[in-house]
Amino acid sequence: MTMAFSRLHSGIHHPLPRSWQSRCLLNKAMFMYPIFITDDPDACVDIPSLPGQRRWGINRLEEFIGPLVEKGLASVILFGVPLKCDKDGRGTPADDPEGPVILGVKKLRSLFPSLYIACDVCLCEYTSHGHCGLLNEDGTINNDPSVDRLAEVALNYAIAGAHCVAPSDMMDGRIMAIKRKLIDAGYGNKCTLMSYSAKFASSLYGPFRDAAGSAPAFGDRKCYQLPPAAKGLARRAIIRDTAEGADIIMVKPALPYLDIIADAVELAPNHPLACYQVSGEFAMIHAGAKAGVFDLRVMAFESVESMVRAGASIILSYFTPDFLDWLV
Ligand SMILES: [Zn+2]
Repeated sequence: MTMAFSRLHSGIHHPLPRSWQSRCLLNKAMFMYPIFITDDPDACVDIPSLPGQRRWGINRLEEFIGPLVEKGLASVILFGVPLKCDKDGRGTPADDPEGPVILGVKKLRSLFPSLYIACDVCLCEYTSHGHCGLLNEDGTINNDPSVDRLAEVALNYAIAGAHCVAPSDMMDGRIMAIKRKLIDAGYGNKCTLMSYSAKFASSLYGPFRDAAGSAPAFGDRKCYQLPPAAKGLARRAIIRDTAEGADIIMVKPALPYLDIIADAVELAPNHPLACYQVSGEFAMIHAGAKAGVFDLRVMAFESVESMVRAGASIILSYFTPDFLDWLV
């Protein structure tokens, strides 16, 4: 005889109680849309490895973002794609007042007052060597000057109007340095600091590097991004960045690292938790759907629902425009 408490189907026989089975419902405000802004002001260029995504010039931002804001887009994160600038050892073009990120922030702030604007902070798109910090003569990372430079860039993005700065470089100590810099300049209460805390050296970044032109000129990033198996190091990074003053903790990539998202919930229970469904995850879902392995929409939902189930409350995703259509 079946015991009464063994009945589970009674909670999922109808769409509404099925939705109640999740502890946190997916909503539009959870999605932060990564966008690529380039230095040709009229650009609107397809990125073949990221289906449906483009590099945009600042003159095209109104036609690009306007319809999404109408549908409920709450936030974007900007990535600069400089194609014409002179890159150097310290990433000087990162905070060029005439560069795509600073002009892009100003333009979006003026066009869409309700839109929350985050800026990715890194140097790799702007350094001649393509690494995320400054280098020693032997090609290794020179950590402390890198941190100083990243803090300078973050402050300049905040001054331009960014509501949030999000360092993705993985230098040691940059969260404390950026927080200090923001506070000292009077932006301590005006700018959120979202840390890419547990950022793994993943093979899922390929399409992004195509999009942003940020592949390193030599070597790789394994000396500063986390090894995929390094659960302990990820936990230490989360604890450290929480202590250094991060307002939001991020795990990147998302789907292969759900256990790390769950760890972050445990280690930083009082912080909002973000995860980045990266370019390769997005491209994989598109490729799988194209190959007939699954339905695109069903798989996109399954992927982000698993992130929310693991504990994420903010999802950076190239599926954001789709979810604005799919979610009511
Ligand atoms: Zn970088």
